[in-house]
Order: sequence, then C-alpha cells, then structure tokens
Amino acid sequence: MSVFDHPDFDQHEQVAFFNHPASGLKAIVAIHNTNLGPALGGCRMWPYASFQHALTDVLRLSKGMTYKSAVAGLQLGGGKCVIIGDPRQDKSESMLLALGEYINGLSGAYITAEDSGTSVPDMEVISRSTNYVAGINPEGEHGGDPSPTTAYGTFVGLKAAVKHRFNQNDLNGLTVAIQGVGNVGFHLARHLKDAGAELVVSDIFAQNSERAAEQLGARVVAPTEIYGVDADVFAPCALGGSINQDTVQELKAKVIAGAANNQLAQPQVAETLLENGILYTPDYVLNAGGIIDIAYQREDKSREEMLAHVDTIGHTLEEIFIRAEEQGLPTNIVADQVAEQRFISQPAMKAAS
Ligand code: NAD
Repeated sequence: MSVFDHPDFDQHEQVAFFNHPASGLKAIVAIHNTNLGPALGGCRMWPYASFQHALTDVLRLSKGMTYKSAVAGLQLGGGKCVIIGDPRQDKSESMLLALGEYINGLSGAYITAEDSGTSVPDMEVISRSTNYVAGINPEGEHGGDPSPTTAYGTFVGLKAAVKHRFNQNDLNGLTVAIQGVGNVGFHLARHLKDAGAELVVSDIFAQNSERAAEQLGARVVAPTEIYGVDADVFAPCALGGSINQDTVQELKAKVIAGAANNQLAQPQVAETLLENGILYTPDYVLNAGGIIDIAYQREDKSREEMLAHVDTIGHTLEEIFIRAEEQGLPTNIVADQVAEQRFISQPAMKAAS
C-alpha cells in the first residue's frame, strides 16, 4: 500500500522518511497542514511492532496537532515525528544529531519538541544540529517541561465544563475521579484539591497513586474501578482510548474532562455520551496548554502572557458546548468544525524562514 492510500493519510502535505544506518536512526516526520504556520509537534520514540504501526501513529498524531493548534488560536500547523526504537536501549547522541540534520533539511516546515520516549535533554542534543526545536529552555521562565501548563489548562477547561453542566462556579463539594496520576494527572490533582474538590485516583503504577493519597488525601481505587466510582467528573489522564462502549456504561460522572489524547476509543462513543447526558470535553481543546507553552517559549514571550492564553481554553470550550447544544451534535464534532474553519479557510503560507 502506498503512503497516499493509507487510511490516515488525510491530505498530509508531506511525509518524510529518515534512514541513517550509522546511528540506527529510522524516523518518520509527518506534516499535516501548514496553513496557519510551521508544523510544530513532538518527537515520539517507541518500539513500534512494525513500520505500518509507526506510520499510522505519526499520521494520526500530526493531524491531531493541526486541530489542536488551530482551536488554541496559535499560528502553527500540525506535524509530528516518530523514531522507531526502544528509547531505553536504542537512543544515542549520534542518532539525535542525525535526526536534527534531517529536520534541518525540511527548512522549518516542521519544528520538533519532546514527547513520549524523548526528553528536554534529548531536544538540547538535537538543537546542536538544527534550530527547529522548541521547548528547550529548562533554565528559563517556562521551565521546559510543558506538563504543568497542560495540567493548568485542563483545570481551566474542567471548571468551564462544570459550570456548563452543573451551573456551578466552583468545585466545592464535587468529586473528580482521575485515571492516571503521572506528570499531568498529579499536577491537575493538586489544582483540584486547592479548589476544594474531593479526589479519587487510580494508576497502574502504585507509587503514583500512593503519592496522590499521601500528598493530596486522594482515595485510591483499582484501575478497573475508576469508571464506576461515585464522581461528578471523570478525568482521563493516562493513555488514549479508555472511553469505549463498555466503560461508558459504567460511568456515573456527568462530565468527562481530562488531559489524555484520543480518549474516545471509537467516534460513535461520542453519540452514546450525548444520549447518556454526559458532557464530553474534547481532549485536544482541553489539553492544549502544553503546545501553547511551547509556542510561547519559542517566541520568548513571558509566562504571564502564556498563562493568559491558556485561560482562553475556558472560553473556547464554552462556545463549543453552546454550539453543540444548539445543533444537537457531540462536542468533539463541533470542536473539529471550529478547527477546520480556522485552518482550512487560511491561505497556505510559507512555513518558516
Ligand atoms: P505520564 O506517563 O507521566 O502519566 C500517565 C500515567 O497514567 C502514569 O502514571 C501511568 O502509570 C498511568 N496509567 C497508564 N495506564 C493506566 C491505566 N490503564 N489506568 C490508570 N493509570 C494508568 O504521562 P503524562 O505526561 O502525564 O500524560 C498523560 C496523558 O496526557 C497522555 O495521554 C498524554 O498524551 C496527554 N498529554 C500530555 C501532555 C503533556 O504536556 N505531558 C500534553 C498533552 C496531552
């Protein structure tokens, strides 16, 4: 099957395959759309079972970045990079430097950043061979790691969803069930605790859930029990695809608002959520804090300006919720429409100088 015929190809502008035998680098960069600006998206390193798995992942992720940045009001397009390999065994300095040189050859159409399997120090290595790297300012005002800002944006969006669904301006007396208390989930839990919410958490890594119990007084339940707990809000902050036609039947919460990417296992789940009166907060709108942070780091803008931009996630969601209600559509469909209005209506601009 050619790349053009791939079911997830979806009008990608460019897909580049990098092969550097000396370092063992095998990587794919997918650039979905640059109408709004250069394609910015993280570089994931993962031991993919096959080349097809890697291609599918990079195509889906890069398209997702186009939508995320467009809805977030950023002048950025969508792109992503995947390195095929085990980050614990296969990663090397020469591999990262070679990747930087390849990315440089794309003349700024794609800008990379950290993602699963890569880190800020890895990005610093890549920055020795290309300037097209973002989120490498750990000593600066922003701190490099975007997780705290992703968590803050998720908190802002969760409050907007609570206001819309329960007509309540604060979180006092509400219970939030958090699935996954890793980097983002734990920071989110802290914001929620400070705002007066009760917490129930689950994590497959016991140390993480125990940290939430000890430091934030969260009640811990087994990973399989988190869907059915008596909560007002369900916050998926682990891996994608956790909301499916089975788990949706267990949910008692009337709001879903979490940071995980691609939360809905199948698109039809959105219809079931609508029928069950559960307000779904579209994931890529809610978790855009990280990309906003990285975009502001790149432009060397202040943390204050960056946080003001993250606060707009709440207003954007309110507009999406109202439009969805007026049109009787699932919220994720309306979010896609908002994104497409922004990036498809723009004339293609030259990616970067
Ligand atoms: P992380 O790896 O630090 O945290 C994920 C946590 O989920 C871990 O503690 C893991 O043990 C736990 N987990 C995995 N499977 C689980 C399960 N079935 N049940 C319960 N817990 C489970 O990752 P993160 O950086 O916190 O990201 C969390 C999610 O948010 C991911 O889906 C990521 O793609 C998304 N996201 C993150 C950012 C960011 O800035 N880090 C930005 C946008 C989106």
